[in-house]
Amino acid sequence: MAKFGALFWCVLAPVALAFASRGQLVILPGKGKTVMERVMETLKTEDPAKIRALARQLRKEGETVMADRLEMAADLVAKMKKAPTDKLPASVDPLDESYLLNKPTTLDQTDLMVAAWLRAEGKGAPPFITADLYPEQVTERGLTPHEMWVLSPYFPVDSDLTAPVLHFGLPPGAPPEAAPEGLHAFTYLEWGRAHIRFPGGPVSMLGRWWLCMLAHELTHAAQFRVGMTAQETTDTLARYGYNNSPIEVQARFYQRLIYADLARRAREYFLRRGPLPVFP
Ligand SMILES: [Zn+2]
Repeated sequence: MAKFGALFWCVLAPVALAFASRGQLVILPGKGKTVMERVMETLKTEDPAKIRALARQLRKEGETVMADRLEMAADLVAKMKKAPTDKLPASVDPLDESYLLNKPTTLDQTDLMVAAWLRAEGKGAPPFITADLYPEQVTERGLTPHEMWVLSPYFPVDSDLTAPVLHFGLPPGAPPEAAPEGLHAFTYLEWGRAHIRFPGGPVSMLGRWWLCMLAHELTHAAQFRVGMTAQETTDTLARYGYNNSPIEVQARFYQRLIYADLARRAREYFLRRGPLPVFP
């Protein structure tokens, strides 16, 4: 199961999102422009037989990674059907926190709906970069243009999005216990600049879970910006405990708000505009 999850996130999610965005060009870092052009052209047909034929051809040419991806994409497309708009994924309860705790291993229908909405033509979303699609290749970075674009309505102060430095995995030499299960991220100040560390390493940057976890930590960065001190964070934890610390309550408020809001806005968009994009 874990293996499938990793496979999905690292290999299939970009392809799934390419379909979710329906004709919008998604940049898949690949081996060569010619292969990529053929892949994109074939994916646009949304014809499983044609996609499988290209996979066989690419395998003969030694492009096994892309061939594997295409075969999975063909399976996915075969399962996809145009759903009527009354089959839109349900909205999310803005007060439900249960989904915040566990890192999901697959994209759900709502993730795909949100991705399709974010990438819908004419919305002006910036193109994905390598860090969006292949998070495991980067250990330190700022927010990507895509992340800033999605979160900008919720973070009106530019520096809250442009200043923080994100770190993935543990610093060199740190013991593995430094990344206990369930510790998804923490934010700290270094020379006045916010740093956010995700000790468990990267997750797919394209699902809502990631965007909202990022928003949670960016809220802490904003709290630091308006004067919160490290001493205050420890004092508050000691006094109220983690769950009831006002610092955490505020961060979880934004995390939940954005999680529910992205689903709501995507849903309303497709109810108005239709047709619903394809979902597996
Ligand atoms: Zn927090």
